Amino acid sequence: MQLHPAIENAARVLDGATLSRNDALRLAEEVSGEDILDLVSLANKVRKKFAAPFTPCSILNAKSGVCAQNCRFCAQSAHYHTGIETYPLLEPDEVLDAARRARDNGVDAFGYVTSGYGYRTVTPEFQKILDTLDLLHAEVPELKLCVSIGILSRETAELLAKHHTWRYNMNLQTNPARYAELIADTHTIEEKIQTIRYLQEFGVTICCGGIIGLGESWSDRIDMALAVREIEPEGVPLNVLLPIKGTPLEERPILSPEEVAKTFAIFRLINPTLMLKFAAGRETVMKDFQGLLMLSGLNGMITGGYLTTRGRSVEDDRRFIEQLNSF
Ligand code: SF4
Repeated sequence: MQLHPAIENAARVLDGATLSRNDALRLAEEVSGEDILDLVSLANKVRKKFAAPFTPCSILNAKSGVCAQNCRFCAQSAHYHTGIETYPLLEPDEVLDAARRARDNGVDAFGYVTSGYGYRTVTPEFQKILDTLDLLHAEVPELKLCVSIGILSRETAELLAKHHTWRYNMNLQTNPARYAELIADTHTIEEKIQTIRYLQEFGVTICCGGIIGLGESWSDRIDMALAVREIEPEGVPLNVLLPIKGTPLEERPILSPEEVAKTFAIFRLINPTLMLKFAAGRETVMKDFQGLLMLSGLNGMITGGYLTTRGRSVEDDRRFIEQLNSF
């Protein structure tokens, strides 16, 4: 059986070649229908050859909602009326309980996430975050601590590094050139990239991905995948938009599994070695297709729920991961 020529060209990635922007655009424009399964198969082979085995991580929303930023997809922005549960920063003991549960569920990377712009100075709230990280490090030292608290200065980035932050999540979300138009105009993509660079300077590894289904084009998706490659992160969370009522994106159509499979596969071919994680949208949006999509080149997932939506049980996901690792 003959492979589609664009897929045959992309198969050079298996021999160590780098997928160019034009190669990726060709896949996006030319591959459709049943050929997508050949593309999925290639992405899975690349994942198997170059990336780590399937691994779960978990996140805790340590401060929810009432955010002054206007990210168009986000249920937590105070610019929109979405009716989510809001609460101020959790106490260190509450976070510790959640971290112990994550550890007992066999997860080894624990993400501490807060809503909001971020921390450019050492406010009392930022100090409480540092104290929480110290407590987690002392009480559950086996957990790797991933932090996602927004935009930082060099000073606050250095403090997080000193207080046991192993990895930091800062998503590009979309094609950086269209950030203001597609995501938010209350902060800039440059501030986010600068934050990443500060953290890398202090030895913190980076988790950096985005969302698809915002109304972006194929070339935007490819530009995001290429921008991620330039950032040199270790982890890449990929979210599929669940349109939230009350946000400007509430009417966006849900992406088809076919389109998501093609996007994930192209992401893997552009980034052969990275930990590509299926984040929000796996159970809620993609439902029965989550297995196929995990095999479209991904090797990680967020388990046990998301920031404002629930996921399926950690136990079910653990079995799922064991099965995925046999492919
Ligand atoms: S993504 Fe973060 S910064 Fe943007 S509105 Fe939501 S909570 Fe605020």
